[in-house]
Amino acid sequence: MRKLGIYVQVPFCQTKCTYCNFHTGVVASSRFAPYVEAVCREIREHRDLLRAAGVGEDLAEKAHSQEWRCHEAVLDTVYIGGGTPSLLDPAHLQNILDAIRETFAGSLEEVTLEADPETVEAEKAAAWVRAGINRVSFGLQSFADKELIAAGLFTGD
Ligand code: SF4
Repeated sequence: MRKLGIYVQVPFCQTKCTYCNFHTGVVASSRFAPYVEAVCREIREHRDLLRAAGVGEDLAEKAHSQEWRCHEAVLDTVYIGGGTPSLLDPAHLQNILDAIRETFAGSLEEVTLEADPETVEAEKAAAWVRAGINRVSFGLQSFADKELIAAGLFTGD
């Protein structure tokens, strides 16, 4: 049986690194919720897109059964990357994972969140675990001040 993995990009960062060409930016946190709503809507509408393409006639009904396969595959991994998705409220991450669980067959064996160490707090980490996140990928640019200054992440003060 083929396995399916989903990557969700969260294009927000605390600071824009000088060398980064990813589609990310620094925005007001008030823009996080509308983005998450749009992502959830797109995930749920994926069912309709598949149906429109003639894949899985009774997709919605079978989404949680072993009968249904998205292109003959079942979902087993989700990677929420960025950007810096750990900036989001844990409830946002929960909403994204709920939408994925409702839409795709399979069980989420591995759910990864990309995190900036500066954004991690015990309370948030506990909420991530409750949402089903079982792997954290930490990203840090450098331990060297000189390199952090070159990347625009540290002023040296
Ligand atoms: S934190 Fe990562 S994604 Fe964000 S600007 Fe820096 S390198 Fe790019």
